[in-house]
Order: sequence, then structure tokens, then C-alpha cells
Amino acid sequence: MGHRVALLVSLALVLAATAASAATPKKGAVPTLVFPVAGATTYQDDFGDARSDGPPHPGNDLLGTKKTPVVAAESGTVKFWTTSATAGCMLYLYGDSGTMYEYIHLNNDVTMRNDNRGKCVAGTAYAKGLKDGARVTAGQQVGYLGDSGDANGIHPHLHFEVHPKGGAAVDPFPYLQAAEHLLFFAKLGTPFTLALTGTVVSATASSLKLQLTTLQAFPMNVKSKGLTQTVTLATPQPAEVAAGDQATVWTQPALATLKSMLGADNALSVALVQVAP
Ligand SMILES: [Zn+2]
Repeated sequence: MGHRVALLVSLALVLAATAASAATPKKGAVPTLVFPVAGATTYQDDFGDARSDGPPHPGNDLLGTKKTPVVAAESGTVKFWTTSATAGCMLYLYGDSGTMYEYIHLNNDVTMRNDNRGKCVAGTAYAKGLKDGARVTAGQQVGYLGDSGDANGIHPHLHFEVHPKGGAAVDPFPYLQAAEHLLFFAKLGTPFTLALTGTVVSATASSLKLQLTTLQAFPMNVKSKGLTQTVTLATPQPAEVAAGDQATVWTQPALATLKSMLGADNALSVALVQVAP
């Protein structure tokens, strides 16, 4: 009886802690962001840099591959903006925290070449099926990285701005540096399994902690290399590994949610472990 009560109390605490951290960002403060590009990027702190053709640079430019999914940095509602010659295909995200984000230079190409034949519409600039004014959850795709507007012909990039309380733009860099990165990207609700390769940090009867180096996601068959994240996986059966082992861990099939794509603690379970000889 005593044990059961203790278990229920601890479960309630876990649920309360989860709800507090994930569901209710503090009003007015910029929350921990989901990194807005779901793929490899290079960027630097170019906020405030002088621009010959206008005011100082009000955001950070995240350089990446054309048509890489861009995702909601926090939960909120979106507004499409399609009439700015300089911004090109643009999106406003009004976050639940009160912070507003701008996504600029979204894709306007039909092919992978710089054809400029696409319009600022869902499926080209914005995520397939996304409607102007729609509610989105953190990590949900809102668009595709591109080079529309005055980025045309320059390296495809997402120009990203952060406006606390909907006011003036502040430097996004510290928020981007602290952001959580999706391990891979899939449409929310779709099934996937991962092959995670790396070094075992620790292994207990119920969990396995892995320092990642590479990842492969199925059935989308995307590969990522040079990873640095650590993931903690639930182990339904104790895995026969020890700290320091080089291993490939196959995860049990799961549905794409923000937590599973972030590789949050115990959001994924181990199906099989292969230790490198
Ligand atoms: Zn920019």
C-alpha cells in the first residue's frame, strides 16, 4: 500500500514537471526554442551587421540546403506574407509565449534549380496543407528553406528573427545556440525507426545512454553524420553493452512527435543493439 501511494505521488510529480516545462512557456519570456531548420545549417552571429541597402541586419541567416523543412520554433499560430519584394515568401509565427518570429526567403523554386517558378503557397514556400492563420505545434513543419526575395541567386538560407513580446527584433543567436535540435524530421504522426550509431555512455537495466555520431531514419531513409547529441533510450530488456562500447542501436518503431524527433529522454526504446567488434 505504502509503495503504491509513493509511486502515484512520484508519477504525479513527473506529469506536473512535464506539463510545466513543455506546455506552458512563461508569458513574455523567449522559451527554449526548437531550432527552426530541421537539417544541417551553418550560421554566425550576423545580427546588427551593416547592410548597404538598408538598416542593420535584424536577424541571423541560417544557410542550408534548398527545401530543407523549416519548423515552428515554439507552438503558436502562423501568418503568411507574400507581397514583400525583399523578404520574398515570408511567414510570421506568433508564439504562445508572446514572442513573434519571422521566417524570410522561403522557397519559391519548383525544381532544385533557381527557377523562381514557384509561388508563395503551401507545398512550395509553406508546408504542404498548411493554412494561413493555422495553429502549429513546436517542431511542426511550417515551410521550406529557400532563396526568395532579395536572397534570389544567393546561397539558400532562412533569415530568422526573434521579437520578444512582439516588439523590436533582438539577436536570435543566443536562442539558436541554446535551441533543441530535431534528430531527424518526419511529418508528425508518421511511423519511423532509427539506427543510431555512437559510443555507449552508460547502460542500466532500464536505459541506455548513447553519444551519437551518425543516424539513419527509416522509412524516410535520411542520414545524418557528425552528430554530437547524447540520447537516453528506454531498454525494455537489459542491453548487453558497457560504457565505452561502439554500438549501433535500432529503435522500436515509434510515431513522429516533438519528443521522439528530439530524442527526449526515454521517448524512444531500444529494439536491438549491435556492438562493433
Ligand atoms: Zn538575413
